[in-house]
Amino acid sequence: MDKEIQKTCVIIGAGISGIAAAIRMQNKGYAVSVFEANAFAGGKLSTESNKGYRFDMGPSVFTMPEFVDELFILSNKNPRDYFNYNALDLVYRYFFEDGELIDAYHGKERYAEEMALKTKDKKEEIIHYLNKTSEMYDLTAEVFLHNSLHKFKNYFTKAIAKGLLNFGKIGAFNTMNGANEKAFKDKKLVQILNRYSTYNGSSPYLAPATLNVISHVEIEKGAYYPVGGMFSITSSLINLAKDIGVQFNFSTPVREILIENKKAKGIRTDKEIKYFDVVISNMDVYNTYQKLLPQAKKPIKTLNQPKSSSGIIFYWGIKNNFKELGLHNILFSENYREEFDTIFSKKAIYDDPTIYLNITSKHTPADAPEGCENWFSFINVPNNSGQDWDKLVNEAREKMIKKINRMLKTDIRPMIECEMVFDPRVIEGRTSSAFGAIYGNSSNNKFAAFMRHPNFSKKISNLYFCGGSVHPGPSIPLCLLSAKITTGLIK
Ligand SMILES: Cc1cc2nc3c(=O)[nH]c(=O)nc-3n(C[C@H](O)[C@H](O)[C@H](O)COP(=O)(O)OP(=O)(O)OC[C@H]3O[C@@H](n4cnc5c(N)ncnc54)[C@H](O)[C@@H]3O)c2cc1C
Repeated sequence: MDKEIQKTCVIIGAGISGIAAAIRMQNKGYAVSVFEANAFAGGKLSTESNKGYRFDMGPSVFTMPEFVDELFILSNKNPRDYFNYNALDLVYRYFFEDGELIDAYHGKERYAEEMALKTKDKKEEIIHYLNKTSEMYDLTAEVFLHNSLHKFKNYFTKAIAKGLLNFGKIGAFNTMNGANEKAFKDKKLVQILNRYSTYNGSSPYLAPATLNVISHVEIEKGAYYPVGGMFSITSSLINLAKDIGVQFNFSTPVREILIENKKAKGIRTDKEIKYFDVVISNMDVYNTYQKLLPQAKKPIKTLNQPKSSSGIIFYWGIKNNFKELGLHNILFSENYREEFDTIFSKKAIYDDPTIYLNITSKHTPADAPEGCENWFSFINVPNNSGQDWDKLVNEAREKMIKKINRMLKTDIRPMIECEMVFDPRVIEGRTSSAFGAIYGNSSNNKFAAFMRHPNFSKKISNLYFCGGSVHPGPSIPLCLLSAKITTGLIK
């Protein structure tokens, strides 16, 4: 009998979704090769060290760890041999300008209790809201997270039809802020819940109320911290991929996807041309078309959807211990509406930006020298439309230091031992994310989910896409689901 020839698959990019797609395709029996432009894996989910401090450069909030575990189980490995994580009890510390500090705990009861204690709203009302978002999650997950939105046959499955028939119930006709203001009297609670729009780089005053499900994921399903930090998600999946036979080519940018008779045939790098049966791009879809498919007809409407916000991040080594800070801390601005308006309408940085401080040394002391802390200090900013970023970064540093000093009643300036900075230009340079937008398209209208690029090309066969810029969208869990949907479409 003839030996069956093993099919081959190339993945362009070793972002978290590219690595997950590689593991899934190898498990399907393909011989998989990954080509990554950087010398390191993980794309946004990467790590750097500076003067004894270690930083996770991108994601810091980890939800739905089961989607990571699933990849080990699929490969007949015990996840715990590669990757471990712990549930967080105290998830966020929210600081307000009037001196109020509100803690957000894991679990409906505990969360509602603390919120009711610190705000004008009642525990029962908060529980009722959380029950509603939980119901909304159950109605929407199959439609928006687990299946391709772009395969006609999917609309006839029971779960998806149920979600679509309940379009009103899933908040499609209101904004996040509209629904939150309707539910609660207290401005602080509304602000805390509105903040979840930033998880996909959108404005709560424009994004559909459906996105309030994000709070359900974090508050009820829980937030976790990987042992060894966020980068251990990347490193453990790379170890798994290598163990099952995936081939990695680092420092090897792909320059072109080869097309013949409307069929993807392989890739061109600076060194060689290589042919494959299946091509999956984990590169941002906008730049995949612009840079790797210059001759192809582009889905202009999809590619030209408004992009998400970006960020300026200062990775500061801080020579001090702040007892009042936890792993995740938010120092809120007083006027959230104006802050989002500045980002999305004026494409500028707000004067008093909300600051997110992530300090992994609170959980992994080895991430900072003794008596010190590693601060990932983040503000939301517009994506890159040609602003003077050198000037904006300098201004942002001053605004942030001023706000931190005021709110924490300290002076951090002499405590900053070292600094690295990311701005939208750096984010694009490091990951090829169009305009440095962190989350692909924004979700600032109710049809945004339908306007994300599908996980496959409608015009070129054997060409597929996965990652935060395509369906179902950004974040670690969604990128892992993106890889699952994409590879599920391949026979
Ligand atoms: C600052 C920040 C904070 C975030 N916070 C969170 C959070 O708290 N929780 C969360 O869940 N998510 C968060 N996210 C979002 C999350 O990180 C992303 O959605 C996710 O990591 C994107 O993964 P991806 O697979 O789409 O690929 P990316 O990470 O975008 O990586 C794409 C990879 O493709 C490579 N590549 C591109 N072009 C080529 C080419 N031509 N040839 C070869 N290789 C190429 C790039 O070098 C890169 O390695 C955050 C992101 C950032 C930047």
